[in-house]
Amino acid sequence: MRIILLGAPGVGKGTQARLLCEHHRIPQISTGDMLREAVRDGGELGRRAAGFMNRGELVPDEVIVGLVSERIAADDCRRGFLFDGFPRTLAQARALEWKRVAIDAVVEIVVSDEEIIRRLGGRRTHPASGRAYHIEYNPPKVEGVDDLTGEPLVQRDDDRPGVIARRLETYHEQTAPLVGHYRDIADQGCLRYLAVDGAGDIRQVGQRILEQLA
Ligand code: ADP
Ligand code: ADP
Repeated sequence: MRIILLGAPGVGKGTQARLLCEHHRIPQISTGDMLREAVRDGGELGRRAAGFMNRGELVPDEVIVGLVSERIAADDCRRGFLFDGFPRTLAQARALEWKRVAIDAVVEIVVSDEEIIRRLGGRRTHPASGRAYHIEYNPPKVEGVDDLTGEPLVQRDDDRPGVIARRLETYHEQTAPLVGHYRDIADQGCLRYLAVDGAGDIRQVGQRILEQLA
């Protein structure tokens, strides 16, 4: 099964990606997590990406397409994978089509901008794994630390009001056109397009996605 999770920043893609990947036993490919790891490593890629990320803008397509192409060639992707946060532009979607990477389903998670701002404002992240918590909606067992490792949680540099607003703009300008793009491909019978209501608690949304995908 090859799945794309589509939706604005903060709708819950990473959270639902973990549940879906466990269920379907496929790897989660989060370009955001891959980029943050590259930034922590301090190499050339990380240095190139950091400025765009901190401004709430997209990292150039050729960088992302290179990263993803390499990742999906790995052995663990043979049975499928789930893209979380990729593609984010029409050029990225077209790169997949040129490479003949067939997708089974696009799952769009839909949440209002006001709710997104509440979700991103309270998000706390475990840097090493990318696990996300929310101070109110999904708190860790012990405040400020990751449930599995006990390591400290951080607020991402881009989860601050000014950058959140810019990321939402970036989404509406550059990523939202993918909705029409994939709906058209679905109309031709080449994949399934599911728009899922992302309101409600994490378990409810997860259940909704699994039911619609079944
Ligand atoms: P994305 O990967 O789309 O940016 P995340 O999965 O990181 O989104 O979720 C953003 C924030 O919202 C996190 O703090 C997460 O704990 C919280 N969250 C995710 N799903 C829900 C939900 N259904 N209800 C409330 N909060 C949620
Ligand atoms: P969120 O889902 O919370 O917006 P991500 O972790 O997916 O955040 O992405 C964080 C940042 O990494 C984005 O704002 C962008 O700068 C960069 N990024 C992630 N994925 C892509 C992508 N597919 N194309 C371009 N930039 C990306």
